[in-house]
Amino acid sequence: MSNRAAARLHGYQTAIWGELTAMSNRLGATNLGQGFPSWDAEPFLKDGAIKAIAGRDYASSMALQRPLGSTNNPNSGVPTQFPVVPLNQYTRSAGHMPLVNRVADMYTEILGCKIDPMTNVLITNGATQAIFNVTQALLNPGDEAIVIDPAYDSYAPCIELAGAKPVHVPLTRVEPHGPDKKNPVLVDAHSPIAQCPTSAEFVLDAEVLERSVTPGKTKLIFVNNPHNPSGKLFSLAELTQIANIAIKHDLVVVSDEVYEFMIYPPVQKLARMASIPGMFERTVTFGSAGKTFSVTGWKIGWCVGPPSIIHPMFLHHQYTVYSVATPLQDAVSSAIANAPEHDYYARLIRTLREKRDKLCNVLHDVGLTPFVPEGAYFVLADTSRVRFPEDDVVKRYEAKGQKLSRDFAFAYWLMEEIGVAAIPPSIFYSPENKHLASNLVRFCFCKDDSILDAAATKLQKLRPFIL
Ligand code: PMP
Ligand code: GLN
Repeated sequence: MSNRAAARLHGYQTAIWGELTAMSNRLGATNLGQGFPSWDAEPFLKDGAIKAIAGRDYASSMALQRPLGSTNNPNSGVPTQFPVVPLNQYTRSAGHMPLVNRVADMYTEILGCKIDPMTNVLITNGATQAIFNVTQALLNPGDEAIVIDPAYDSYAPCIELAGAKPVHVPLTRVEPHGPDKKNPVLVDAHSPIAQCPTSAEFVLDAEVLERSVTPGKTKLIFVNNPHNPSGKLFSLAELTQIANIAIKHDLVVVSDEVYEFMIYPPVQKLARMASIPGMFERTVTFGSAGKTFSVTGWKIGWCVGPPSIIHPMFLHHQYTVYSVATPLQDAVSSAIANAPEHDYYARLIRTLREKRDKLCNVLHDVGLTPFVPEGAYFVLADTSRVRFPEDDVVKRYEAKGQKLSRDFAFAYWLMEEIGVAAIPPSIFYSPENKHLASNLVRFCFCKDDSILDAAATKLQKLRPFIL
């Protein structure tokens, strides 16, 4: 097969997500790999989408039987919440007004400053498009952008696709200090995982960060809070350190906050980069309906920032995407409006926190020490005590032309022999930092209890391999 791929794509391989899910399905493994909820969207969300697609004509002719003798007016007797005309055509390029207005109101409250729906908001095809878009909109060839490893796997390729260079700064592991040497994660004191390390052990060294800035070249820094894959919550103090560097070197901060509503007690409120004094003007915040409302297939994302960032992003968006699915934008707008009445955010946190503790207890019990996450729906676990036949796995894959690092060998073995699919976290690291993931594996816990229970049963098979 001739290689028709443009030079800018050389060296890229198929990303792990779909492949791992397909492999897991083929093997009949329990899938705690790719992060998507196993449950369906709540009725109040789906209702919004159905109504937006159907409109009142449909509702009157199909969904609701009109009594004999009623008038011919197709809208008579039809609940008024159905739009008169279905919303199946293009909408405003920068975002459907009902959604843009809701996002503006929501962030006016969250950030404590007035967000203008017309100039401060852009709706994208998920946060993934926002990542591509912001790099295309703000980076020139030869520029640099800082990525904190481990990082979502599309940051670096998008920076490169803009002709710029990703510069990687690793989070390092620091064990807790203080009298009780405990991390700030609230779990039942009697629970075995109360003694486990937490995601707060992954810390950013601000001096290393500042040293990675090349004056005149560095334009952007990506910060992901709550953090995938660790579940770390950057504190206000940590964000302020980053903010100070951004202000000093005139950098834009891309604050990827797609897991913004998944934060576990004792933390009640996510620290927001854009609300730090002096930061709104240089921060673009990303959110995702896929994460917030457990509809990863809807691909609706939002970007909030100053016009100096949002307008260039829009210029790129109008020629590459134009507009994002109208009925789904409409449904997300209703979902944001209706979420409080359904106690949605509090229920999401309660549910995920229970699942976090359930999975962490199992991992701890079988000898895969978890770093109990403070946010998001992933947990990293330490695999260093597992004596699995690494050489055999590596040789087997070598024969198929694949060179595996330890974390990949472990993840493949876990899926093939133990029957549980998980992510090898080196995919979140740059080549120079991949070694930091050797003894780690990432599980996601946004799964029904039956799936977590099935994984728990299978993970018992690890016991004979634990040192
Ligand atoms: N950022 C992070 C940190 C993520 O984990 C994801 C998950 N896919 C995304 C961005 C992309 O979000 P979306 O599904 O809205 O494109
Ligand atoms: N964000 C999800 C994860 O980290 C999935 C991303 C994707 O499938 N592209 O698991």
